[in-house]
Amino acid sequence: MTKNEIFEVRITGSTAEGYGVGHVDGFAVFVPLTAEGDFARVRIVKVKKQYAYGKLIELIEAAPDRCAPDCDCFSQCGGCAWRHISYEAECGVKYRRVADALGRIGGFSLKPMPIIGAEKTERYRNKAQYPVDQNGRFGFYAVHSHRVIPCGDCRLQPQIFSRIVAAVETWMRTYQIAPYDAVSHKGILRHLYIREGGATRELMVTLVCNAPTLTHAQPLIEVLKREVGNALKSIVLNVNRAKTNVILGETCKVLYGMDYITDILCGVRVRLSPLSFYQVNRDMAERLYQLAAQYACPAGRQVLDLYCGTGTIGLSMAKEAAFVTGVELIPAAVEDARQNAADNGIQNARFLCADAAEAAKQLALEGYRADVVLLDPPRKGCDEAVLQIVAGDFCPQRIVYVSCAPATLARDAARLRTLGYLLDEVTPVDLFPRTAHVECVALFIKENA
Ligand code: SAH
Repeated sequence: MTKNEIFEVRITGSTAEGYGVGHVDGFAVFVPLTAEGDFARVRIVKVKKQYAYGKLIELIEAAPDRCAPDCDCFSQCGGCAWRHISYEAECGVKYRRVADALGRIGGFSLKPMPIIGAEKTERYRNKAQYPVDQNGRFGFYAVHSHRVIPCGDCRLQPQIFSRIVAAVETWMRTYQIAPYDAVSHKGILRHLYIREGGATRELMVTLVCNAPTLTHAQPLIEVLKREVGNALKSIVLNVNRAKTNVILGETCKVLYGMDYITDILCGVRVRLSPLSFYQVNRDMAERLYQLAAQYACPAGRQVLDLYCGTGTIGLSMAKEAAFVTGVELIPAAVEDARQNAADNGIQNARFLCADAAEAAKQLALEGYRADVVLLDPPRKGCDEAVLQIVAGDFCPQRIVYVSCAPATLARDAARLRTLGYLLDEVTPVDLFPRTAHVECVALFIKENA
């Protein structure tokens, strides 16, 4: 197979990124913007050792699940993977991806429970981070690129976000605020970052700048107050002067209002600071955490919440649990978690700021034991040391693993099996309709318990 060769390919699967997968003489070809069931003419654009990338040039036979994409930016911006198939079909793809990862990577024959699909497939996000182009227009990056695609009114974000974007663009033009240029490391405004409390509708606008102060902040505050009204609770300057593609810097300065907004999740009031993690789909996060609680059976139990962020999962179980210990790496998130406990009158919880493996080692030295361990790591999954200490030292009856990456969940599930924990149930939950991401919650039970 060589570059520019053209083949007719039947698409029979999907990659984790949402590309269609077909085979030519047993060789896998990944083709963006195709769907399972398509029969397509494809030009090879890149050949690797084990697989190739192709570009769709003609659809000979369209998959039955296909529909017309309902967004002008689809196929350009890197946001949505699935606007060309029905939502039902998308859920099917996501379900098979989870089942496939468990089987292929983990060696499990367990079938996941039916996927919990989202009720809202549009405007479900509560957070957007918009990069800016050299013309001072905000948008999203094209796939695998730092080219900004202006996205108008993105259908995944609340409508108010587009009005804020437009207001900030006008302010930039009026006061000649220079957009940041990563090549020359010159210019001021790097990203516009907006967050909304899904239940409270409180709004936070953060400007990520390559400068310690912001000129013409006052007219910006006025224009945002006019545009957003009482919902505007916070405007923050985030200072990021580093030559990096990490979006946020470490320093935040309040320009207006509070340094956080509030949301309500599973009955718990939660503080959202610019730097702390919060699930982007609040409604489906509630479903996810309710299921996690159902799996955890926390009543009267010692609960350990590793990778706890602002403490949301553990705190949602604190009313029933005997005691909750949370562990989180980011200091601002730990402060939020402690404050969240206080704001909700929760006294049976503590939060440790540490790397999960380091905290686990320390807790093990202190003779700590847990009945239930909650794991909610980032995409790369759990440190092997964490799993060893959890299984070997804390010896919980139950481990509840919330995962945003089926592949690392499958890997960690296999590791837990060798450590004496059986995978009892896995449920995929769709927190990210139209994108390639899928979340899962898994229950592990101690063998011979
Ligand atoms: N459970 C929380 C957060 C989950 S996201 C919630 O549902 O909101 C994963 C969290 O793990 C992030 O807050 C991240 O800061 C934290 N994290 C990443 N690496 C870590 C590590 N090595 N040790 C502890 N926490 C870590």
